[in-house]
Amino acid sequence: MSDDLPIESLGGVGAKSAPLFRDLGIHTARDLLDYIPFRYDDLRFPTPSNKLGTNAGEENAVGVVTQVKERRVRGLEIVEVRLRDDAGEFTAKWIGRNRYVIGRFSEGMRLFVRGRTERTLAGPALNVTQYSQLRDGETYHGEMVPVYRASKDLPTRKIASVVAKNLPRLIGVTGDDPLPPGVARDRKYGTLASAYHAVHAPATPEEAQAARERFIFTEFLVLATAAEMRRAEREREHDADPLKVPPSLLDEFETALPFPLTGAQRRVIGEIWNDMSRDVPMNRLLQGDVGSGKTLVAAAAIVLAARNGVQSALMAPTEILAAQHAAKLAPLLLPFGIPVEAVFGSQGARARNAAVGRIASGEAALAVGTHALLTEGVDFARLGLVIIDEQHRFGVEQRARLRAKGAAPHTLHMTATPIPRTLAQSVYADLDASTIDELPPGRTPIETYAVRVSRLDEVYEFVRGNVELGHQAYIVAPAIDEESELTSVVAEAERLKSDVFPDLRIGLLHGRLTPKEKDDVMGRFSRGEIDVLLATTVVEVGVDVPNASVMVILDAHRYGLAQLHQLRGRVGRGAAKSFCVLVYPDDNVESERLEILTESTDGFRIAEEDLRIRGAGEFAGTAQSGAADLWIADLVRDIDVYRAAKRVAESLLANDPGLRKPEHAGLRAALERQPTTRALVLSS
Ligand code: ADP
Ligand code: MG
Repeated sequence: MSDDLPIESLGGVGAKSAPLFRDLGIHTARDLLDYIPFRYDDLRFPTPSNKLGTNAGEENAVGVVTQVKERRVRGLEIVEVRLRDDAGEFTAKWIGRNRYVIGRFSEGMRLFVRGRTERTLAGPALNVTQYSQLRDGETYHGEMVPVYRASKDLPTRKIASVVAKNLPRLIGVTGDDPLPPGVARDRKYGTLASAYHAVHAPATPEEAQAARERFIFTEFLVLATAAEMRRAEREREHDADPLKVPPSLLDEFETALPFPLTGAQRRVIGEIWNDMSRDVPMNRLLQGDVGSGKTLVAAAAIVLAARNGVQSALMAPTEILAAQHAAKLAPLLLPFGIPVEAVFGSQGARARNAAVGRIASGEAALAVGTHALLTEGVDFARLGLVIIDEQHRFGVEQRARLRAKGAAPHTLHMTATPIPRTLAQSVYADLDASTIDELPPGRTPIETYAVRVSRLDEVYEFVRGNVELGHQAYIVAPAIDEESELTSVVAEAERLKSDVFPDLRIGLLHGRLTPKEKDDVMGRFSRGEIDVLLATTVVEVGVDVPNASVMVILDAHRYGLAQLHQLRGRVGRGAAKSFCVLVYPDDNVESERLEILTESTDGFRIAEEDLRIRGAGEFAGTAQSGAADLWIADLVRDIDVYRAAKRVAESLLANDPGLRKPEHAGLRAALERQPTTRALVLSS
């Protein structure tokens, strides 16, 4: 790879602008080269005067001067020139200090002008940023103008001029091409240098598009190759405990339950048990909407492990969730003689030591806990199954640490945040996925309404009615304090206590409370000692209070659909009919989006819809970190390119599993360099 250069060493970048480039993440020539325009203004042809102003960006026009008006007002030059072309007439305006255009124009002259157009009563008026005189018979040739993501102090125009001035030098720092030459040829991509030239200085939109695709394909190829290699590595290990599945075990398991398994549960248990019977460690994602019965599936995996004499560990992100798992699993596992051992941070030393002792001796077949499970001194005699709940709330490193407590344990990741298939394919490239796509029978769907904030009083009356029936309610708001136009939980809690519900018991839960304070509030809410809980989205994940029957979400327009669906899942967990009310500002035009929630309770459909509306980056930002880090590709928009890249990755690795061939050196170097691939590939 050629040597990179600091951004200051480029022509046009001085001591003043260098920090502005750095603020945009551009530290070196290489960074600038990789700073690819997000769109282009196509200024190759002049816009006819009757079409001027239809484009928000700058436009070009060419015309013959019919009239010139010049004034000077307090040092300001104001020049207005009427121009005529085949389609009609328009005005070109120069206004400002030091324009030096007075006296330059005269009737009959042919001018090229560029600028933004305003529509006025007198027709289009173009505010000129650039102009030149055309000779008789000279046809105008414009160019494609790249538009870069800019900042307030560093406009796209400045970035474009630095790129243009330095382009040959920039292309000189291009590293090795990650794309193997054969692949570039097959896909009819040009050289890497020509692709860089084409994205920064394209002659046509088609040329820019083809070059962009080369970069998108390359980014996906690196990603897909990393995922395939990770999978192959795992497949080669053959060091997991292959567990024996007694043929009668599923019937035995089902008989011990108070209800029959759903078809989806049976299928998914089959997939998991099948993985666990292999000597390749399982790496499976179990996804299912809230209430779809994942706990039971986890219990089935634990039962199989225990039957084979290996231990299981289940890790959840908070004490509340861990305690809930322990409470739900205990009765399911009791018929199989499996007691639940709990390991929490807040546990007393005696209880903790006793639990740790039973885990170390192998006497405890199952340990349920929080991050506390990761601490040193928690050692397993023979850990064969690791279950990670709400897996996206743990880092790769934490998940790896729990697995490291066993030799090569089977791993089951659980999530209640449905990932659309399009995303799952790539975000979870190294994971097998099992989906529970069927709810247990007899659920009444949560009735959902979208309501304008001017009707908030009625909403609160409705909350009161439910509380008077003996139920509880959540009210969720986006902010903690009053620092913006968003509703704050602290302020709203005060208002409810003093004005709206002075006679009810109000609780307050948000991210600035200590873990102990949070547990305390949640504890009181689940014991029924709080009627109405004001909360930020900290209640989002997994909290289970069956007596809560109303969920009110204030400023609902601020959330993604998938997140709203998650919040809604906090109710409808008991026998009572449950309701969700989405409150949005009167003047909000986006409220249509909320209608999807009033119509559907299918988490996958909602997630797909959310993805379609917001794009992969945004979606990933909330649901799953990682995919947002993509450089130029978009998993939704470019899914076909992704599929093609994945096929190429598979065939490259089939021929050269370690990427040792010289033509794969560039790809290998890219794999080692790119941190995003590590973030994206969820495994280990
Ligand atoms: P999840 O963890 O996926 O949100 P749970 O495992 O907590 O869901 O299950 C939600 C509720 O549904 C629990 O009360 C559970 O007992 C019940 N349940 C699970 N499976 C079935 C089934 N097959 N038939 C009836 N009820 C079920
Ligand atoms: Mg659960």
